[in-house]
Amino acid sequence: MNKDYLRMAVGLARNNVVERGGRPFGAVLVKDGQVLATGVNEILATHDPSTHAEMQAIRAATAAQQNPRLDGCEMYASGQPCPMCLSLMHMVGIKAAYFAASNADGEPYGLSTARIYAEMAKPIEQQSLRMSYQPLKGEDGESPYEAWQRVSQKKG
Ligand SMILES: [Zn+2]
Repeated sequence: MNKDYLRMAVGLARNNVVERGGRPFGAVLVKDGQVLATGVNEILATHDPSTHAEMQAIRAATAAQQNPRLDGCEMYASGQPCPMCLSLMHMVGIKAAYFAASNADGEPYGLSTARIYAEMAKPIEQQSLRMSYQPLKGEDGESPYEAWQRVSQKKG
């Protein structure tokens, strides 16, 4: 944990509010003690609900390196990462995350994702978003997974 990077994330979040009229979130992605990329929340500017600060930092870093993996990186975020960002951090191999404001800190401002964390911790069949498994293949009888396996075997 390097508090300078956490301060940087908090500074990005504050500047996003004061200078850009954005939401109060910033993130700094670090690898081997070096800043790979930074991001701020851009939902209000882009109308894209996935443009959280952490997502933007990940997008910038993976685009710059032309590789979707971020193994061994650390995320410094001004606020506690939401389940979407936390999931992506798991998927790309980020090894640690540090945040300066917890969901409890954000609750009075309407900036907590604790409710979604709680929802996703329930068994799938008890979650408010109903999910349903309906096995189905493509029209030619081949599933997308089988097609992917066939096509990627040809390449290899
Ligand atoms: Zn998020």
